[in-house]
Amino acid sequence: MTTAPAYRGRLAPSPTGYLHLGHARTFWIAARRARAAGGALVLRNDDLDAQRYRLDYAQAMLEDLRWLGLAWDEGPDIGGPFAPYNQSERLAAYRAALERLHGARLIYPCTRSRRDLIEAASAPHEGGGDDEPVYPAAFRPDPGAPLPPLGDALGVNWRLRVRDGEVLEFVDTRLGPQRAVAGRDLGDFPVWRKDGCPSYQLACAVDDAAMGITEVVRGEDLVRSTFRQLLILRALGERAPAYHHCPLMADAAGRRLAKRHDALSLRVLRARGESPESIRAAWEAL
Ligand code: GLU
Repeated sequence: MTTAPAYRGRLAPSPTGYLHLGHARTFWIAARRARAAGGALVLRNDDLDAQRYRLDYAQAMLEDLRWLGLAWDEGPDIGGPFAPYNQSERLAAYRAALERLHGARLIYPCTRSRRDLIEAASAPHEGGGDDEPVYPAAFRPDPGAPLPPLGDALGVNWRLRVRDGEVLEFVDTRLGPQRAVAGRDLGDFPVWRKDGCPSYQLACAVDDAAMGITEVVRGEDLVRSTFRQLLILRALGERAPAYHHCPLMADAAGRRLAKRHDALSLRVLRARGESPESIRAAWEAL
């Protein structure tokens, strides 16, 4: 008999701005689900984006989450069995995954620019909620074409090839059954960027597997990313976690909260004298 692994959840903030109420609510839901399951909560610092990452944001992020009353069992500040918890220190694991995808001939180098993709995607290409145009089939190399080696200086983007027409499915623990068709709802997507960095999709899938995460709790803007991450996990032979996508928070005008909404950042609310209890109280009923 196999027993289900003990619950392991995670918070995965990106230090690219101050956390706002929308992030905080999602993290709070993640923490509550981990607690309810008697499981562990991991804090992973998604600091791969060297252009937007700032050390002071990384510090502020941990401080703001603690102020709000969240606690985690493993993380960059306290260590743990799956350290390091800063993505910027985990490049070797991402590179190893890339090599496996390359060895399985599931990826190919792509020199097209973002503009090429947008121009080529003249048809209604997106089902919404995702800014990644479906990669045009005409841009793909022939599957039988020789695959260039990865090399040290990668210099180009590498994409994972999806199987056109394949129906992808998972059951979200909040939204229920989710379905997408490869080649229609999502196309070949980047796993490695020409600046030498893994894509969010690759790094996230590799870390969720390596850290033994059993449920990923995050905003519902990432449902389509989940399909991509499931494809990576399958290609790497890794067990997929469960997914729980939370509703996104909007401002008074109905616009989705973003890091530019400084007025709703935890910092500003705190400076205005709001208490963590009053912020959390609004979510208790969720
Ligand atoms: N760092 C990513 C973000 O903040 C993580 C998303 C996720 O939870 O996978 O959007």
